[in-house]
Amino acid sequence: CFCQLEGKIDECSCDIDTVDSFNNVKIYPRLRSLLVKDFFRFFKVNLKRSCPFWIDDSRCAIRYCHVESCEEEEIPIGLKGEVKQTTHNKYTEKTDNESCADMHLSYLNTTISKKAQHDMEKWTAYDDAQDNFCIDDDKDEEAEYVDLLLNPERFTGYAGFSAHRIWRTIYLENCFRPKKYFNFNPYIQSDRLSDMCLEERAFYRAISGLHASINIHLSANYLLSSKNGLSFKDPKGEWGPNLEEFKKRFSPETTNSEGPNWLRNLYFIYLIELRAIAKAAPFLENHEYYTGNDPEDYDTRMAIKDLLSVIKKFPNHFDETTMFKGDKEAQKLKYEFKQHFRNITRIMDCVGCDKCRLWGKLQTQGLGTALKILFSGQFDEDSSQDGLEKKKDMQLQRNEIVSLLNAIGRLSTSIYKLDDFRQMMR
Ligand code: FAD
Repeated sequence: CFCQLEGKIDECSCDIDTVDSFNNVKIYPRLRSLLVKDFFRFFKVNLKRSCPFWIDDSRCAIRYCHVESCEEEEIPIGLKGEVKQTTHNKYTEKTDNESCADMHLSYLNTTISKKAQHDMEKWTAYDDAQDNFCIDDDKDEEAEYVDLLLNPERFTGYAGFSAHRIWRTIYLENCFRPKKYFNFNPYIQSDRLSDMCLEERAFYRAISGLHASINIHLSANYLLSSKNGLSFKDPKGEWGPNLEEFKKRFSPETTNSEGPNWLRNLYFIYLIELRAIAKAAPFLENHEYYTGNDPEDYDTRMAIKDLLSVIKKFPNHFDETTMFKGDKEAQKLKYEFKQHFRNITRIMDCVGCDKCRLWGKLQTQGLGTALKILFSGQFDEDSSQDGLEKKKDMQLQRNEIVSLLNAIGRLSTSIYKLDDFRQMMR
């Protein structure tokens, strides 16, 4: 069977069997129960931003591309900006014998400190943006919360010119390419990857793994034929796995032998994101996961701790320290890597189907967050660069945490569903 993959995952010391059993038994069930928690199910996103690269082609009118919006009252108060109450704050308390002069001074202090705080926030945001691999919608005025559980990633019918233009632009203009590769073919044959350096190969494999994951999802959650065959007009629709669709997309016969390599790339991107989560564990363990609902927030923190304790024990994490080693050339490559990836996150604003755009944005942001954790230096154990620069604090915004965990959730589900397809083929 072409999807019965064996051996080591490319660029990694871990084999496919190990990931299959680790994911399907330990990670997948834990992520399933974590990602239904309020903190993780509401994602803030701007789905209205216009495409910066070409004039938008017609937006998909297919019913299944539609994104259900969520009502204001459904959004947990903690996500709407309510700050967690602290019990006692000695700096804001006024004493009875405070003189006018004291009050005047304290007024000045607060004005100065407000300005300083504002400047500080501006500079911190600027510093953080330098480390980022993607453009975050979180602070965007047009961004709105979407309930991910109401809008599952599945077959939408989005295909043809618009979808192909997105993938072609990503591979042709924003992935690194083997030297002397014919430009008119955007899709890289895997046997040409040896002409590229490790970092360039890793970039391609991560994008191809994401593409494979999206296409597994749409095959596993397909609109199944009703009495009259496939019908987009069917109001409820019956959803489930479509083996023929999966075979068409991944069998060697229909993909010029590439399908199994694309599936292997799914394991590669999974290991990248898994390693990023392990590396950010000290930060993730101490986060509040505040939504305003104390019992639920407590459960979320416990579920995160449990997940992290399992991830930390995984034996063969991806080793990011082999990448971008050393000299000026490596730093230049890292810069290009970041620019290419940022461009890919902007291309997501050109996806013509809202549902695909939502999940495309979430998953590219999740991967971008993983790359930030692995390569920005913020999360490295060694606290100094050349012994001169002090390490910045580990910092992730809520949307980065939500996208990272949901992105690994998607990859974990794909690996799980792949096993279902294997069984169906047997
Ligand atoms: P495509 O998947 O469009 O691929 C185009 C070409 O890329 C193929 O001919 C092949 O040469 C190459 N290729 C295919 N897979 C890989 C790979 N893994 N690695 C490297 N090269 C590859 N559709 C839905 O139904 N639901 C969704 O949620 C959804 N989300 C999407 C999100 C984004 C960001 C994009 C761009 C598209 C999304 N789509 C979704 C559409 C879907 O991915 C396909 O584009 C569509 O089904 C048409 O498929 P296709 O067989 O023509 O090949």
